[in-house]
Amino acid sequence: MMNKQEMIDILSSLEPKAMNSIFKRAYALKLKYVGNTVYFRGIIEFSNLCSNDCYYCGIRSSNDRVRRFTMTEQEILAAARFADQAGYASLVLQAGERDDPEFIDFIEGLIIGIKNESSNRLGITLSLGEQRYETFSRWFKAGAHRYLLRIETSNPDLYKKLHPRNQDYYSRRDCLNNLKNIGYQVGTGVMIGLPFQTAADLVEDIIFFKKQDIDMIGMGPYIGHHATPLYKVEQPDNQRNFLLSLAMIALTRINLLDVNIAATTALQALDDYGREKGIKAGANIIMPNITPLQYRDGYQLYDNKPCLDENADQCQACLTKRIIAIGEQVGFNQWGDSPHFLSRVK
Ligand code: SAH
Repeated sequence: MMNKQEMIDILSSLEPKAMNSIFKRAYALKLKYVGNTVYFRGIIEFSNLCSNDCYYCGIRSSNDRVRRFTMTEQEILAAARFADQAGYASLVLQAGERDDPEFIDFIEGLIIGIKNESSNRLGITLSLGEQRYETFSRWFKAGAHRYLLRIETSNPDLYKKLHPRNQDYYSRRDCLNNLKNIGYQVGTGVMIGLPFQTAADLVEDIIFFKKQDIDMIGMGPYIGHHATPLYKVEQPDNQRNFLLSLAMIALTRINLLDVNIAATTALQALDDYGREKGIKAGANIIMPNITPLQYRDGYQLYDNKPCLDENADQCQACLTKRIIAIGEQVGFNQWGDSPHFLSRVK
């Protein structure tokens, strides 16, 4: 691990020279540990029904100005077919939080359906929030092999400030442990630049990733959503949070080495070249949005989410060009599993 104080200093000052030096170091380590390949995961944001009420999120249950939607199984299968034909090789199924029996069955059927239709070509990552052990286990048996569950912040006191009382930090952390025991490749992450969050908190986040022996990281800037309670507390400094996020990607690469790290959509929301800059800071995964256009405005977790009007084909062409332009190649037709996971289970 890099020295803690040194990391705190970089994150608090965001001094350009220090930043460039960690970007260079992190990118060299990216090349060494995960190569010059960027892997795509087609993400389908298939429902904004949510029983949680996170103070920062645009689709929180108390936001009654959102038109709620759930895609049908047929629509999701069609999006999966697109990903398969485009050579994306891996899907992320994301939605708001639900744990009712119909939902659990629906997801199980969906996983089996996607696996069958693609003759097991598509890898499936789930991002469906906290669930019971048994549910995680059923979905794993059905064929999902990766799970993303952001801890949001590793500081339990800060977690409390951002969530209502029934959403508990320790339950969320237990879920991460359960996912690992079941055999998933486990991803977590945090939001960067939250109100009340300090540079020391962010360094602790990286230490948390390391202690949890995490395989994949998905983190990005906190971005305000006008209809949320947190937005009323303080409006975020987007420029600062963008740089902080790049620094966090670099420091995570430097400290964790062989994990998969995503350059998230939120990065691109704040900068036209956000994802490329994320790759140059050490990330190696991009998640093109393949949700049908008519549903995109229903899934706005934060304001000004990008690519609301660009369909999946256009998105693929645009992204591929962008990756090649920065001297990387796209890992078409490969799952691109986390090397950390592969050595962890060996
Ligand atoms: N229901 C799933 C998926 C949640 S949405 C779950 O609970 O894990 C995916 C992620 O979007 C969240 O984990 C959160 O980190 C992020 N997010 C939500 N609101 C955001 C905001 N205002 N700015 C940036 N990221 C946000």
